[in-house]
Amino acid sequence: LEEGLYCIGCGALMQVKDPNGVGYLPMSALRKALASEQLLCQRCFRLRHYNEIQPVDLTDDDFAKLLHQVSENHALIVYVVDLFDFSGSTIPGLPRFVGKDNPILVVANKVDLLPKSLKEHKLKAWVQGQLKEQGINAVGVELTSAAHPKNLDAILDKIDELRAGRDVYVVGTTNVGKSTFINQIIKSKTGVQELITTSRFPGTTLDQIAIPLDDGKALIDTPGIIKKDQYAHWVSNKDLKYVLPKAEIKARTYQLNPEQTLFFGGLARFDLVSGASDDSKTAVTAYFENNLKIHRTKQAGASEFFEKHRGDLLSPAPKDENVQLAKYEFKISEKMDLVYAGLGFITLPAGIHVQAYAPEGVGVFVRKAMI
Ligand code: GDP
Repeated sequence: LEEGLYCIGCGALMQVKDPNGVGYLPMSALRKALASEQLLCQRCFRLRHYNEIQPVDLTDDDFAKLLHQVSENHALIVYVVDLFDFSGSTIPGLPRFVGKDNPILVVANKVDLLPKSLKEHKLKAWVQGQLKEQGINAVGVELTSAAHPKNLDAILDKIDELRAGRDVYVVGTTNVGKSTFINQIIKSKTGVQELITTSRFPGTTLDQIAIPLDDGKALIDTPGIIKKDQYAHWVSNKDLKYVLPKAEIKARTYQLNPEQTLFFGGLARFDLVSGASDDSKTAVTAYFENNLKIHRTKQAGASEFFEKHRGDLLSPAPKDENVQLAKYEFKISEKMDLVYAGLGFITLPAGIHVQAYAPEGVGVFVRKAMI
């Protein structure tokens, strides 16, 4: 009975044997689902109706295997990245993964989260520069907001032009909005809404979904690669909203004296150790989810302050109470972004000395300023 049936939510092959595996549905529920033509695995059903996620056993090896076939095919690679969490979108060794000769078109998503004043050509150039550092020579960069795409037709035309009769593989890490993007394509091509499960929870696309193209080729959605260092893995599900912004990020600028500290909820900390000059304040601009509270305090005593107030004044805090914040130090010689991967970034002026704190394992680094 269950041979060859696929979940319309995540694309996984349905099965009735392993409750912890992908595509599971109890036999009784499967019968009902077949009768109602709503073929969703238990996981997608719960996600859709109760907004709750169930973990499944899918190893990194399974992901690697699923992606390996991409490199053996002549195809256009559509690499979806998240502009707000650019480093979290990075797939290390992408060209090797997808085959050295396959062209890569970058769809830079969630442009709606960035200030509207940001110029498109500047942002594209910034994306190209960041890609170069990752060893990726993209044939093009398209900016979009998959949640409300205005330029979907233009992107689809571009894909059609670049694929030149080949298959298209859409790749990306989890949470970049890949499912949302594919859903929009399906909607525009077939009028079916919300066919693929999208959600705030990382790691929800488990298997491949192929959308047939006119010439017998297909656009194939590959599973999202889970990045373990994303902040989403540190906070509880109810606190994900502070980590995954939904609306345009408002720049928050602080005029800091040396030895002042900013806390970003209980998730990250920033110290201005010394400014560019002793007698003037230093302006730093923070880009984080708008509801994430930023608390200013003195650097002296900030560690005790954190221990005392994590989870109340400084909330949300990491869901694991034993997690400590690791310290990083930077001397800033030109205008740079200090990035707390997946949480946000702070634009810093030249000539200052700073410290950054985040849960161990979270990427903390500086990059060329985006804004
Ligand atoms: P996937 O794991 O890459 O398939 O990501 P999803 O499509 O499930 O999206 C992950 C999260 O990002 C969800 O909460 C989406 O609502 C959100 N999202 C997707 N596209 C956009 C976008 O263009 N703008 C914003 N602000 N959020 C988006």
